[in-house]
Amino acid sequence: MLDGMNTLSTKVSNAVNRLSDLLFPPACLFCHAPMPAGSDCCAACLADIAIWSHSTCTRCGCELPETMAPGPCGHCLNKPPAQQQTLSLYRYHGPAREAILGWKLQGHEAGVGWLVEQSMPGLRQHIGGRSLLLPVPMPLSRMRKNGQHHAANLCRWIAEGTGCAWDWRILRRIGEQPRQSALSGQARRKNLRKAFALADDYRPLWQDLAGQVDDIWIVDDILTTGSTLHYAARASLKLAKPVKVLSLARTSLKH
Ligand SMILES: [Zn+2]
Ligand SMILES: [Zn+2]
Repeated sequence: MLDGMNTLSTKVSNAVNRLSDLLFPPACLFCHAPMPAGSDCCAACLADIAIWSHSTCTRCGCELPETMAPGPCGHCLNKPPAQQQTLSLYRYHGPAREAILGWKLQGHEAGVGWLVEQSMPGLRQHIGGRSLLLPVPMPLSRMRKNGQHHAANLCRWIAEGTGCAWDWRILRRIGEQPRQSALSGQARRKNLRKAFALADDYRPLWQDLAGQVDDIWIVDDILTTGSTLHYAARASLKLAKPVKVLSLARTSLKH
């Protein structure tokens, strides 16, 4: 009887899959080229999605020649960032860049969801059940305007895949700042210096979490100069745990 039920449910789900293939023919998540069922990424896009280098300065995450990795690099010897470690998953380039732009500007999640899913085994080597993720906070007005907090969504996905905790209330944005992407490197830093702080009411939230947390990861979608993550990490040092930063993608700009 049970076997019969299983066969029936397999038949039903095959029929549902066939129907959804007719309505939404399988296509590459990145370039939308037609694909055989069950595949998400075509060979051309797969070849063009670049993971961030493994040969980096551990502290700031910049690329280093293999003989100099894991650093510290010259920049970190001179003026290290607030965080102890910087991890980026992909190069902000090609299909990964297109997927992130499509997600941020048009709300298309599938490509970014796939990128996060693919990086999960690597992420689990760094982030575990005793890690806490804090998204880089957004100005409240921008969150209200587009109804999306991309860094928080990233935290939620990564938390689901690694079994860690995440919280969007502890670290806050103060005041209103212009969009970072519209500013030069120097203006960015000036703008960000006082942009982050622990929430006024962080203590009761933190009291419940602190005993279960070994390290804190500040999470953002794109790392460009690293200023945003540095200042967000600096504001989190008050929590008295090792603070690290994670970005989904990183541009190849130098410091
Ligand atoms: Zn493709
Ligand atoms: Zn460095």
